Amino acid sequence: MYFSDDTIVYLNGDWVKAGEANTSVYSQSLHYGTSVFEGIRSYEVNGKARLFRGLDHMERLIFSSHAIGQPFKMKANELMQIAHELLQRNHMTEAYIRPLVFSAPMMSLSFSEEAYFMMCCWPWKKLLGDQLTTLAISPFSRPHPKSCKIEAKIGGHYVNSILASTEAKARGYGDALQLDVEGHVAECSGANFFFEKNGVLFTPSRGHILPGITRDTIIQLCKKLKIEVRQQRIYTHEVFGSDSAFLVGTAAEVTGIKSLDDQPFKKEWSTTLGHHLQKAYESTTRSEEVWEKMHF
Ligand code: PMP
Repeated sequence: MYFSDDTIVYLNGDWVKAGEANTSVYSQSLHYGTSVFEGIRSYEVNGKARLFRGLDHMERLIFSSHAIGQPFKMKANELMQIAHELLQRNHMTEAYIRPLVFSAPMMSLSFSEEAYFMMCCWPWKKLLGDQLTTLAISPFSRPHPKSCKIEAKIGGHYVNSILASTEAKARGYGDALQLDVEGHVAECSGANFFFEKNGVLFTPSRGHILPGITRDTIIQLCKKLKIEVRQQRIYTHEVFGSDSAFLVGTAAEVTGIKSLDDQPFKKEWSTTLGHHLQKAYESTTRSEEVWEKMHF
């Protein structure tokens, strides 16, 4: 198991051992999915733990909690300090950090008047290393933006992600490519999606996706590297038989995709824009100099 009961976690103002941390069985989040969270990677750069785009993640946590009316009062800088102390207490520099805002005991169907807060971390290598993955188009569409706050990272949304990823894995694929309810390409169960055609990159525009921080980093890197990226509505037939594809997310970083529904992408991964960006992303997350220049 990558997470451990022996690590120290932050819970509502205290530092406690994960195995000894307690919360109420009446937390509304446990029953109805009313939690919001983040996944942040810390990289060791010149011997120090650097949270890649840490402040952006903390701001998104605050945005998500406000999107569902949680009375969460902590500021992004305060959250960053807790994250650094968390790493120090657990003697980690390369880690995945999970802040979680969840609700106090409450069983009614309105938002809780009190927000609880937890932050934990664990060592987590890149999910697939440098391997390519395979995707299947999922029978589970992404939730419609008219039925939820699609741009917020809300615990309850992940039932949809888990249904999609479990179904794809049961059929032998690495992950699910989910469509929106109108049948356009949206995103993977826990990552955003890009594909390459004739030297141009395409990615679904905002509206039916979680607009990831990694997606934004990739778009910024493309500007710097003069790679054209089009954010637009995408049909599945445009993806099939295109040159290459990859998924991006904090946990997955940049992962190449071998095939979609068993149809391979044309180019050898090492010759693709995705591979080039994978290397650029790796050096961005690990280089103090690039980091400062790009103002992350
Ligand atoms: N889409 C979904 C559904 C996700 O869960 C994630 C992971 N947070 C992403 C996209 C990528 O977001 P980020 O790059 O901010 O990690």
